Amino acid sequence: MRFGTVGGRLVLVRGPAAVDIARASGGTWPADPLRALASWPEVRSWAEQPGAIDWSRGQPAAADLLGPPVPHPRQVFGVGLNYRSHAEEAGLALPPEPLVFTKFPSCICGPLAEITLPAATVDWEVELVAVIGTGGHRIGADHAWEAIAGVTVGQDLSERTLQHRGSSPQFSLAKSFPGFGPTGPVAVTTDELPDPDDLALECSLDGETVQSARTSTMIFNVGELVAYISHICPLLPGDLIFTGTPAGVGSGRNPPRYLRPGQELVSRIEGIGEIRQRFAG
Ligand code: ZN
Repeated sequence: MRFGTVGGRLVLVRGPAAVDIARASGGTWPADPLRALASWPEVRSWAEQPGAIDWSRGQPAAADLLGPPVPHPRQVFGVGLNYRSHAEEAGLALPPEPLVFTKFPSCICGPLAEITLPAATVDWEVELVAVIGTGGHRIGADHAWEAIAGVTVGQDLSERTLQHRGSSPQFSLAKSFPGFGPTGPVAVTTDELPDPDDLALECSLDGETVQSARTSTMIFNVGELVAYISHICPLLPGDLIFTGTPAGVGSGRNPPRYLRPGQELVSRIEGIGEIRQRFAG
């Protein structure tokens, strides 16, 4: 099952059609993604009943109509240095436990966005993003996928100068400028993915592939991240976890490269889809 939002309302997506779950269920399920995700197992059971949804009455699921799968999450977590290849290019030791920071929710935007660059040192990071369903507190790694509604594509855009300023670096602020959390185009439930822990992800800048890896090369997999974070913060329906980026970011290059006005960044994950950002100065 694939889900997203149109006009802030939760839709299920199949092929070219998006169906509003509140309208299709006659109001049984709420349009608000946070409330719908709180009842996610029940919403799925309803949607999977034969004939529950008349797909011919859907609206177009065009990328320019879809918003972020969760437009207003209450908590957005990011994970630093979660791929060995990225830790190596950054010249940093592998973390003994997940390095977790916040992307403040005001940075979340949809799959097609024009983003104003606040500085000349903004970098790209393609990431698999876990969308929390029912969530919970102290979730075991073995049960983590049950707490997740689906996975989507995200970019953890990062202003590197601010990120590394000061003796205690400013990860959270530097990754939270407006538009710095594009997500979408839809979230996909794990039953649609052959192995949700082994997906190809890549990103390209003006057509040049700059990152290409598999999520199976994460240091801490999605289950371990959910367990680690939820043993501290209860995970709430609709929360997002940006699970880290592989090698190939601009700051890891010699000389470093950063995003410039007019460039287009395309990020893709196998089985999910792609998001596309254009940058303005
Ligand atoms: Zn990141």
